[in-house]
Amino acid sequence: MQRVRQRAALVVDDDDAVRTSTAGILRRLGCDPVHVAHNGAAALEVLASTQPPIDVIVTDIDMPDLDGVELIRAIAERGYAGDLVLMSGTGAEMLTLTARLATSRKLSVVGALAKPFRPAALSAALGRDSMESEPDAEDTAPDGSSANVDPISPEELAAAINAGEFEPWFQPKIDVATKRPIGVEALARWMSRRRGSVVLPEDFIPIAEEHGLIDELTFDMVAKVIAAKEHWRELGVDLKVAVNVSMSSLQSLDFPDRFAAVVTDAGGGCGDIQLEVTESRLAGNIVRPLDVLLRLRLKGVTLSIDDFGTGHSSLAQLRDLPFDELKMDRAYLRTARTRVRSATILGAAVKMAGELGMQVVAEGVESLEDWHRVRELGCDQAQGFFMARPMPADELPGWLSAWEEQAAALDDAP
Ligand code: C2E
Ligand code: MG
Ligand code: MG
Repeated sequence: MQRVRQRAALVVDDDDAVRTSTAGILRRLGCDPVHVAHNGAAALEVLASTQPPIDVIVTDIDMPDLDGVELIRAIAERGYAGDLVLMSGTGAEMLTLTARLATSRKLSVVGALAKPFRPAALSAALGRDSMESEPDAEDTAPDGSSANVDPISPEELAAAINAGEFEPWFQPKIDVATKRPIGVEALARWMSRRRGSVVLPEDFIPIAEEHGLIDELTFDMVAKVIAAKEHWRELGVDLKVAVNVSMSSLQSLDFPDRFAAVVTDAGGGCGDIQLEVTESRLAGNIVRPLDVLLRLRLKGVTLSIDDFGTGHSSLAQLRDLPFDELKMDRAYLRTARTRVRSATILGAAVKMAGELGMQVVAEGVESLEDWHRVRELGCDQAQGFFMARPMPADELPGWLSAWEEQAAALDDAP
């Protein structure tokens, strides 16, 4: 069994047997001293009075008097800097949510154990630096880009837009029933000559938004998207293209007219373009965005609500804003792999959107298993690395041919 070097531990549990056995495991793992407390209040006394300070707390979350949630709040307020292992017999969901709460309170959660647990589970928890974080942070650069250490100034960004260094890359959206690509999403890539690398949106979109450059960037993307679309049309490929639009653009009442002018100048029609608006940014006063979105709709633009499920006023927006499509944030699909709740929310959102006459797109389809799940849940379209990563415009025709074969093979897979 793995040994943990002389760490001071505290076990908190109202169940005598669990307390004793857990303390025993900790001793065998090399913790010394090992304190015990039968409830949260007693635990706080131990924390306040013992030296050396406690390095690891192993606590039940369901206790009378001061429960685990209150204990978490209390130790966070007291600046507890050691590790925390949560244990519970109340179900995995409670454990996961409590662990998330503790992490949000800046505590170092190294384990969440469903009772009864094997000594090896506690050993594994204490042998690791921190519990695997929620998957939000796991996204890696999908296309060989490198992290930029050199900060981006608004001047550099403005010059790069003028120099034409931004390109739309495209990721297909696939109709789940027919397996046919029916559209693509344009994702901005900065091919920075100075930096010698591809820079991803998360590094420059916030700066463009903050410094009034986002409309220029969006219009540059729209013009290039229409050019790409025309090029594909010559090759016999006709796909609808979605462009991401920032909330700050939807605050300008003249955005629809400027947008339509750019589309027309580039030789396209508003009906060729779909705009994706990120849901989490729609909070607050929606009078202006509503004005702008309605006028875009009247011009023939279709509208998609992006990263749905990450904001706070989702349902009101579905009721009040003229969206044609709902893109479920990929965190739902990712967590639906292991959490029944996420799968249930996804299923309910699909049903609701369907009844509202909206298309539902599942983002982040990364495996065959995900593909089957979105099909079972009734999503209309799927998008994700399993089908394709974002690619430059000229790679799309080649991908389309390759996909036909891949799609045929998907047919009767279980
Ligand atoms: P988004 O609109 O939700 O775009 C989807 C993001 O998820 C893209 O990241 C895409 O590469 C990534 N993705 C697609 N499939 C998968 C998958 O299976 N697994 C994982 N882990 N990721 C997947 P990207 O290109 O880095 O864009 C990030 C965000 O930046 C976009 O999120 C969008 O909100 C914003 N963005 C991108 N281009 C533009 C633009 O031209 N204008 C504006 N305003 N925002 C943009
Ligand atoms: Mg999008
Ligand atoms: Mg999205």
